[in-house]
Formats: sequence, C-alpha cells, structure tokens
Amino acid sequence: MPTVLLWFRRDLRLADHPALLAARDAAGPDGAVLPLFVFDDRLWGPSGDPRRAFLLDCLADLSDQLDGALVLRHGDPARVVPALAREVGATGVHVSADTGPYGRQRDAAVERALGDVPLERTGSPYAVTPGRVTKGDGTPFRVFSPFARAWRAHGWRAPAPRPRTVPWLTGLRADAPPPAPDLGGVRLPPAGEAAARAAWRRFRDERLAGYADTRNTPGTDGTSQLSAYLKYGCLHPRTLLGDLAEVGGAAADAYANELAWRDFYADVLWHRPETHREPYDRRMAAMRYDTGPDADERFAAWAAGRTGYPVVDAGMRQLLGEAWVHNRVRMIVASFLVKDLHVDWWRGARHFLAHLVDGDLASNNHGWQWVAGTGTDASPYYRVFNPVTQGEKFDPDGEYVRRWVPELRDVPRRYVHRPWDSPDGVPEGYPLPIVDHAEERHVALDRYERVRRA
Ligand SMILES: Cc1cc2nc3c(=O)[nH]c(=O)nc-3n(C[C@H](O)[C@H](O)[C@H](O)COP(=O)(O)OP(=O)(O)OC[C@H]3O[C@@H](n4cnc5c(N)ncnc54)[C@H](O)[C@@H]3O)c2cc1C
Repeated sequence: MPTVLLWFRRDLRLADHPALLAARDAAGPDGAVLPLFVFDDRLWGPSGDPRRAFLLDCLADLSDQLDGALVLRHGDPARVVPALAREVGATGVHVSADTGPYGRQRDAAVERALGDVPLERTGSPYAVTPGRVTKGDGTPFRVFSPFARAWRAHGWRAPAPRPRTVPWLTGLRADAPPPAPDLGGVRLPPAGEAAARAAWRRFRDERLAGYADTRNTPGTDGTSQLSAYLKYGCLHPRTLLGDLAEVGGAAADAYANELAWRDFYADVLWHRPETHREPYDRRMAAMRYDTGPDADERFAAWAAGRTGYPVVDAGMRQLLGEAWVHNRVRMIVASFLVKDLHVDWWRGARHFLAHLVDGDLASNNHGWQWVAGTGTDASPYYRVFNPVTQGEKFDPDGEYVRRWVPELRDVPRRYVHRPWDSPDGVPEGYPLPIVDHAEERHVALDRYERVRRA
C-alpha cells in the first residue's frame, strides 16, 4: 500500500490545495496520505505569542477536519521529516513550495536528507509563484505598477477543487503541541479554514463594494482583515481572485491590487533574499540611524503608544490590543519611527513581527523598507508622513484615535489629532509630543540628502 506524506506548513486548509490533490493522486486508490506538521524552533522561536496562538488554533481546526489524523512532531525538519518517511515507508513527501529565505534552505536540507524519496512541490502560498513574473528580458521587476500589470497578464489557475475523500493514514504517534501562550487581553480573529471562508464571504457580500473608498480610513471596518488567514494559508489568494473575477468592477479591482502587492513582495524576496534584513537600495546602507539610550527611550515610547502623537499612539496600542494594525496606520507609525525618531527600520520591523498575528517576512519587511525609502519603488525619500495631517485626513472625526487612546475621548474633534493646541491643554495622563515633527523632518531629510550626495 503506497503511503505518501503531506507536510503542511503555510497551507492549513483542505480546499483549493493543489499539493493535497497531488498527494492523494500519488497515493492512488489503494494508498494512504499521512498529514504532518512540524514545530520548528527556527520559526516558532521568533514568531511572537499572537502568531503562535493563532497557529495552534489553526492546527486544532485542521486536526478536527482530518478526524485526528494530523501528526504533530517537534524538531529540525531535516531530521523529523525523513525519519517519519522511513517509519511509514513513504514513497514521496508533498508540500506547497515555500519561497522565503529560510524555507528554501530548509527544504533543500530536507530534500538532501530524504535521499531517494522525492520532495514534491506543488503550488505556493501566492496567486503566481514568486520568480514566474519577469520583465521581457527575464530580469525581475523593481517597481510595483509594471509588476502588477505583468502579474495580471500572466494570470493564475482556477481554484483547485476540494477533494471529496482522501485516504488519510491514522493511528500514528503524534507529539503534543506546545502549550498555548497567555495572550493577556489580546483579541485574535477566530482561527481556521471555516472561519477564514466565513470572514471572506462577509467581506465580499457586505463591504467589498465600498472598499476603494473606505480602505484608507482606520476608523471604519473598511478592509477585509484576512491577512492572518492568508499568512497561514487558511485561504488561498486564488480562491479570492476567482470570486473577485465574478464580482468585477472597481472595488474588486482595488482588492486584487492589494493581493498583487502581497505577491510582489514575495517575488522581491525570492530574487533578493538578503533584503529581509539589508536595504533593497544598496546605497541606503550608508544611512545614519540613532542608537544608544536616548534612541532606546524613544523606541520604548513608540512601542508603548506614548509618543504624544495621537494617531501614532492609537496604531501602536492597536498592535498591542489586537495584534493587527490598519495598513494606513502601519505606514504612519513606521514613518514616525524611521523619520521622526531616526531609528533603523529593521528594529521596527522586528517589533512588528513579534506582535502582529499576520507577521510575514516579505510583506512586513518590504512594507517597512517602502516607508523608510530604502526599498523597491520606494515612497520618495523626501515624503515624510506628517502624523497630524495624516490623522486629520484619514481619521477626520477622530473615531480611531478615541477607540485606542481613551485619554483623548473628550477632546473636541478639532483638536483630537493635536491636543496640545486645545484651549484645555493636553488631557491629564496623555504625554506631550516627545519630538517636534517639523524639526525631525529636517533632520531626516538632511540625512537622506547626505546619502544621495555621497
Ligand atoms: C510597515 C508595514 C508592515 C506590514 N506588515 C505586514 C505583515 O507583516 N503581514 C501582512 O500580511 N501585511 C503587512 N503589511 C501590509 C498591509 O498593511 C496588511 O496586509 C493589511 O493591513 C492587512 O489587512 P487586511 O487583510 O484588512 O488588508 P486588505 O486591505 O483587506 O487587503 C487584502 C489583502 O491584501 C494583502 N495586502 C494588502 N496590502 C498589502 C501590502 N501593502 N503589502 C502586502 N500585502 C498587502 C494582504 O494579504 C491583505 O490581507 C504591512 C504594511 C506596512 C506598511
């Protein structure tokens, strides 16, 4: 009886899962598929509690769907996967390709250790697998808009059908999962494939039509909040793109464009794996950032949501309270850390990865680089987000700020983004701005200018 392994990683679902279909077909009518997940310290360690908790809940959901057949093991996959393959006499190991820097190295090590047993990669977590969309001369895109055009022209397959039956192999020893972290009061979305599909359907039916107008206003429920589901593969972007094609229109187009950003950053990281840490624009390696006790103190005020700039503080408190932050606000708080506090983007990116439930190396670190002016298609270095005018433009009634910064609840609308101008002064308990934005903007521009001239 042929047995094959299906090693789940960032694809914790059963629908639209090409690697699952490949595993079932390889096993054949008389064979069996052994579903496996490996807790790897190299990924578990840096994840942060929200992602760990969400992952554990997604695995519990998957295990229920598999009637308990899911085998959990701990350790280095290059040891664990071949050992299990030998234990059950597997004829192949099936995976969805992992295109991130660590995943690629890990899979190469697993492949070597498997020897004659093939590691079969089918599909990836992206609509178009990174590396496939290139310019006419075969070189990678460096700028988003032409990438997105070529990405749409390339297209993607229709969603894969959910298999009616899979002959899961049961009865194998499984390790216990690690203990669930204590999240304090952090509220996460419900985990798993059914919850992801329900969230998508609700968004598609009730809010997608307004997406192009509301996606930038953090005080409204204008975006889909699907990022954690996409991160862990509870949903595949192709499933969403299939539905979007049926809906059609400007809002569906705007949403597909955001999925293109996700594919773009994965593509960038595929071609330049070192850019999860190094500036994409190599000239920017000469940029001077602040370090030492003063910078640490400012970083701590930023992380705690106590900078005295309401929209920045609201964003950083949302990160601590929900492990998720609205995209517009991610840009504002990132700009504030890099351009007002002069702290290296990498420090902020690491902080985000430790606290976000959707923390993803490609989208996060390249989102940071974009804001910091060190990345692809960078927002021009001279564009420094003004936290007051950004707040007034995108949170005009102060709804978002009041939700996350209770000290400002009674400040009149006019002053909610600059309480220091209010005739009543800054409410007790809320800090005065820790820096002067106008001054720090000049400092940042001066430093960028020096790098450019050098
Ligand atoms: C500094 C910074 C850090 C970020 N870190 C992450 C991260 O760790 N993980 C992450 O998934 N996204 C990250 N983003 C991108 C974006 O902020 C989130 O994907 C988005 O806020 C998720 O909310 P949503 O699902 O409601 O988005 P929606 O507006 O509903 O968008 C739908 C989906 O499109 C994708 N998407 C949207 N915008 C972007 C974008 N700019 N880049 C890449 N993909 C995008 C996401 O998968 C998202 O779920 C970051 C952006 C910035 C500026």
